[in-house]
Amino acid sequence: MPDFQSGVHFLQIPGPTNVPERVLRAIDRATIDHRGPGFAAMALAIQEQLRPVFATAQPVVVYAASGTGAWEAALVNTLSPGDRVLMVETGQFAALWCKLAGRLGLDVELIPGDWRHGVDPDAIAERLSADTAHAIKAVAVVHNETSTGVTSNVAGVRAAIDRAGHPALFFVDTVSSLASIDYRHDEWGVDVTVGGSQKGLMLPPGLAFNAISEKALAASRTARLPRAYWAWDDMLAANRDGFFPYTPATNLLYGLREALAMLHEEGLTNVFARHARLGEATRRAVRGWDLEILALDPREYSNTSTAILVPDGVDADALRATILERFNLSLGTGLGKVKGKVFRIGHLGSLNELMLAGALCGVQMGLDVAGIPHGDGVSPALAYLASPSGVLAAV
Ligand SMILES: *Cc1c(COP(=O)(O)O)cnc(C)c1O
Repeated sequence: MPDFQSGVHFLQIPGPTNVPERVLRAIDRATIDHRGPGFAAMALAIQEQLRPVFATAQPVVVYAASGTGAWEAALVNTLSPGDRVLMVETGQFAALWCKLAGRLGLDVELIPGDWRHGVDPDAIAERLSADTAHAIKAVAVVHNETSTGVTSNVAGVRAAIDRAGHPALFFVDTVSSLASIDYRHDEWGVDVTVGGSQKGLMLPPGLAFNAISEKALAASRTARLPRAYWAWDDMLAANRDGFFPYTPATNLLYGLREALAMLHEEGLTNVFARHARLGEATRRAVRGWDLEILALDPREYSNTSTAILVPDGVDADALRATILERFNLSLGTGLGKVKGKVFRIGHLGSLNELMLAGALCGVQMGLDVAGIPHGDGVSPALAYLASPSGVLAAV
């Protein structure tokens, strides 16, 4: 591969996503005093713009961290050593959150999964109904399992918890769905929502979020897991006046302010519809290629990430390498149990029809170069994007 490649690099992984020029320009400014009045005004304005993205009236805490930090924060602020947490093995990210919980000294009960389906609310209801002693203190699920391209029914899980009449806290990871797929922290009775900056929010990696319910806040007053950096109480106390207990990632906050402005200019409903449209176009391309979508239930297709099975005997990572080398297009690798068996197309964040069309062309040419038999996926995808149904998807 030549050292220099002309034109734009196509970053079509499901995160980090493309950072728009407006956000890059916003970050490219002098760092200010984070104890000064200018900073406080910005931080308070960000809080106002951030809450609607989580569909919450509750506080949202912002950490300088990757999404993993926000996973840890959700657990250490609300739980005590040995507490039982019910999780569901939807894929790699659920498995990683589960491992992290175990390391913190929590007693994790994992409902096994086949990495092709989302969370089954009935399985949650059944497990919670059997837990008459209320040993389970929290249910933690991943809204959009980025590794498999499966979106779970969070409202359905809430209903299952209520059906069982169980008092467990409810935690949801929205790192790859926030600001891309409809999500409602308050309406769905979520106690802690975990988010990250580098996917739907169109920022570089480095910020992580906890949206916190009153029930979670109450739990934090008696929770006994050790916490220092992640402690909500110090954060919330400082945040009330627009400050942080320690140095925040000031320049990423400049970027966050700009990204939130962009999301509200477009309108969140339109943002969700755009992701639905681009997701559906991608799936039509996959079917046209005669390849298989990893997600088995169409109701659970992810509008931000599609995992695609390659034919037996083909190494998905070799195909990805070919496509990167020839066409300067990065696709997502298969993670964990599906390594080598799938590649992923990320279709979230700062993205439009022609960018997606370019990426789909890159994949189709890559299949040609690799000698993998396939049909024409680009034409049905473009036809969909040009059709009225492509415009009206999910509006
Ligand atoms: C990207 C992602 C994370 C966070 O991973 P980090 O690498 O720690 O930022 C967590 N959950 C899901 C579902 C993700 O897609």
